[in-house]
Amino acid sequence: MSIEVRGLRRSYRTGSVEVPALRGLDLDLPAGSVTALYGASGSGKTTLLNCVAGLDTPDAGTVVVDGTEVTALSSEQAVAWRRGALGFVHQGHALMPWLTARENVEVPLRLTGTPRRDRAHIAAEALDEVGLHDWVDHLPDELSGGQRQRVAIARAAATRPAVVLADEPTGALDERTGARILELLAGLAADRDCTVVMATHDPATATVADRVVELRDGRLRDRPATGTSSGTGGP
Ligand code: ADP
Ligand code: MG
Repeated sequence: MSIEVRGLRRSYRTGSVEVPALRGLDLDLPAGSVTALYGASGSGKTTLLNCVAGLDTPDAGTVVVDGTEVTALSSEQAVAWRRGALGFVHQGHALMPWLTARENVEVPLRLTGTPRRDRAHIAAEALDEVGLHDWVDHLPDELSGGQRQRVAIARAAATRPAVVLADEPTGALDERTGARILELLAGLAADRDCTVVMATHDPATATVADRVVELRDGRLRDRPATGTSSGTGGP
């Protein structure tokens, strides 16, 4: 699924001060590509991901994901569209602490109407793919930070979305664990044929991406990718 961003602007008002988060942004991400959205804290990464996900409404501009104009959807339509088309990996894994790894992965499957009898099997398979075969029945508290982030990736990928967005997926991890998580995320593009966008201020992200896009003060600066490509949209 391709992602097309045109003229995207978004400001936040705090009291009488208007803070521009995105200042007119254009971006084309081909289907199956892995993009690192790099930039310092406050550069607009989360705002951009939220606009692509239909979680935030820009002041101007459009986002089209594989023909769906996300910026034209009502919030109810956006909820339905997200369930079918999108996986989201947060910085904090955002797992439900009272559910096991498998049950956490089953949540989006339930929301997309996967029959009850198939859910446990699909969830276990998704956890197997991220190397958590032996941990399916554990609670998040019983897992390491890296394992929790793997569960979050399995949860985002279980519904086989065409787009996976990850917001600082390695933010809470040590370097080595973070590198594995980035490889797993990039691998989704190849294995599941989905378009992956990872927001980060971790320069290591560049090594797994087809393309590095740098945000600075709500504007884009393109940079050459340094790494090997695992997606199909790379150079
Ligand atoms: P990043 O994810 O790169 O750290 P953000 O997209 O979160 O950047 O933020 C971009 C800018 O917009 C920052 O200046 C931030 O303070 C501001 N901003 C983001 N969200 C809000 C909000 N809900 N209210 C006010 N300002 C915000
Ligand atoms: Mg952010």
